[in-house]
Amino acid sequence: MSYVFDGRLCRVTPYYFQYKTHVKQRWVGRTIPQVFESDLGQSSSLSYEDIKHDRLQLQIKDKGKPVIIQGEKLITQPLRQHDIILNYKHIHEPPIVWSGPISIIYQDPSLIVVNKPSGIPTHPSGNFRYNSVTEIVKAQLHLESIFPCHRLDKATSGILMLATTSAACSNIQKQLQERKDVKKEYIARVKGKFPPSQLVHQDPVFLLNSTAGYIMPGRYVSIDSSTTFTRLKYNSELDESIVSCEPHSGKMHQIRIHLRNLGFPIVNDKLYNPGESDKLNLLRNNIELKLYKKVKLSTKDNTDIQIDIVKESDFESKEIQQDIKMLLELRQARLAELFSSPTVCEECKRPIVASTGDGNSFWLHARKYEVNINGDLLSFSAAEPDWACI
Ligand SMILES: [Zn+2]
Repeated sequence: MSYVFDGRLCRVTPYYFQYKTHVKQRWVGRTIPQVFESDLGQSSSLSYEDIKHDRLQLQIKDKGKPVIIQGEKLITQPLRQHDIILNYKHIHEPPIVWSGPISIIYQDPSLIVVNKPSGIPTHPSGNFRYNSVTEIVKAQLHLESIFPCHRLDKATSGILMLATTSAACSNIQKQLQERKDVKKEYIARVKGKFPPSQLVHQDPVFLLNSTAGYIMPGRYVSIDSSTTFTRLKYNSELDESIVSCEPHSGKMHQIRIHLRNLGFPIVNDKLYNPGESDKLNLLRNNIELKLYKKVKLSTKDNTDIQIDIVKESDFESKEIQQDIKMLLELRQARLAELFSSPTVCEECKRPIVASTGDGNSFWLHARKYEVNINGDLLSFSAAEPDWACI
């Protein structure tokens, strides 16, 4: 594997990665091509091709010892309990917008603090493995391993704390979870004239999964997620504000959702401030706002911290379900469009979806982080991005 810089994009040369899957009870007696067809939607012809090139193998136990089976035999070999399918996948990682190196704000033997660029996932996830901050920093500093101490969305830039050992990482995570002496400040560039006085906003944090139409992170959410907002600047020509955001809880997309709910979404937030042509996200966003409206009404006098969001938002009502049905149809149509004329990889015969990265900037930045680590109050700040100058 190697990084290839292509203009403003960083690409990863395709590579093989081994996935190990333990045979599930319901697969017993069936063959690998049958299971891959029914459970993963992979055509038998692709599975035969993978078997032919030893990209699919089976690890079985023979008299207690592991034995690898490969080749044509696998086409008819019935799976047994305790077998392990070895799948050597040819990975085509999407490119990221990055021309390196990643700026290091602080470094000691156990802690590294970086200024994460926008558009790079923090750690390997989904289709991204080497194109992630932890892997890039490992390569940049010639380190064996790195552990992210907290989450920072792929789109968001700014302070990211990384530990060099899992013990150091657990220690920092513990401090962050206890939230003692922890202060985080983000800055965002939002639409409209944000109110001049400090504002504390409280709302439960949830979002609608547009792939399957359920509420994330789960049915029960706490209503005490809050963020303090302070306007720093307002530009009347642009009708945009720079706002300081201090989250008092750490829910996924909390700042983005709270700003959207307040009516001042981040200007270039594709998810919570979608453009007119993005029918899918417009609909998803509208459904979420409808759900929030219902939650607001039903929780007005509610002091319980946890609520049943499905019930309170009337999620199962006919009206919402019709919207969700339409959302899933739009999602299907978008996927069909994406795969309509893909380029096929010569090596693994799978489609390569063209991607140009997610743009080079998202207007939410983790500017300051204060944390008490073993009695030392450490304070980090990351340089402000150019977009903050309005
Ligand atoms: Zn391939």
